[in-house]
Amino acid sequence: MAEAARQRDLIDTAPAFTQAEADALNARFAGVDAGTMLAELFAEGSLGKVGVVSSFGTESAVLLHLVAKADRTVPVVFVDTLKMFEETLQYRETLIETLGIVNSEVVQPDEAVLAAKDENGLRWSWDPDGCCEIRKVEPLKRAKQGLDAWISGRKAFQSVTRQNLPRFEVEDGRLKINPLGDWTKDDLEAYFEEHDLPRHPLEAQGYLSVGCAPCTSKVKPGEDPRAGRWRGWDKTECGIHSPNNPQSGGNDGDGGELPPGYEPAF
Ligand code: SF4
Repeated sequence: MAEAARQRDLIDTAPAFTQAEADALNARFAGVDAGTMLAELFAEGSLGKVGVVSSFGTESAVLLHLVAKADRTVPVVFVDTLKMFEETLQYRETLIETLGIVNSEVVQPDEAVLAAKDENGLRWSWDPDGCCEIRKVEPLKRAKQGLDAWISGRKAFQSVTRQNLPRFEVEDGRLKINPLGDWTKDDLEAYFEEHDLPRHPLEAQGYLSVGCAPCTSKVKPGEDPRAGRWRGWDKTECGIHSPNNPQSGGNDGDGGELPPGYEPAF
């Protein structure tokens, strides 16, 4: 299992993590609170190069606070699709300052790809899967190339597409960690209150899950919290996360947020 730190160098072309290692980590940290789990993993250095991917959405502050409390130097990656709400960009600045995040990174779509495939910036209106692919999936893939493990803010309760979410999964040989996988909405609310965390400016207006501006609408009473994403499309995820992994019991989804039929936690 991943308890012993592996030496990784340029000639190590094997996957950074195996499903067996993810299974062992799931067993090892069963019943352990997310903060303690992250602190132990960071302290022992068994994750290799690790980063957290955040959409700076309505629930992002909880994961970022947990990570920063354990190690403020862990890089926080934000995929800026260039279609974000201005409020989200402002909220990112607020959280970086409030939580004392030391390493923040921004990845954006490739300019040449945008010019070739979304010249007028309206691809979202007729091909949201293609738009997510060039504005979210590809930039995140680039960002993850230097990582052995990444931390996601997905939670099982967010959608029926995210049930049975394990804490540790393997995706493309990288370890994907879902510290909030088993958290409920009440757990998140209590954590916000306990630590007096700043709220996303759009939450009070009824945006319960915030992604890109063109594809996010307010959620009506009684609706799934992510119902406001890609309203009118058979789409619930952006493609940042792989389809269900039978081995890991994983599923689509982000903690922030993202194809037909499918946002940013990301
Ligand atoms: S959420 Fe909408 S605007 Fe953002 S990348 Fe996907 S389709 Fe494009």
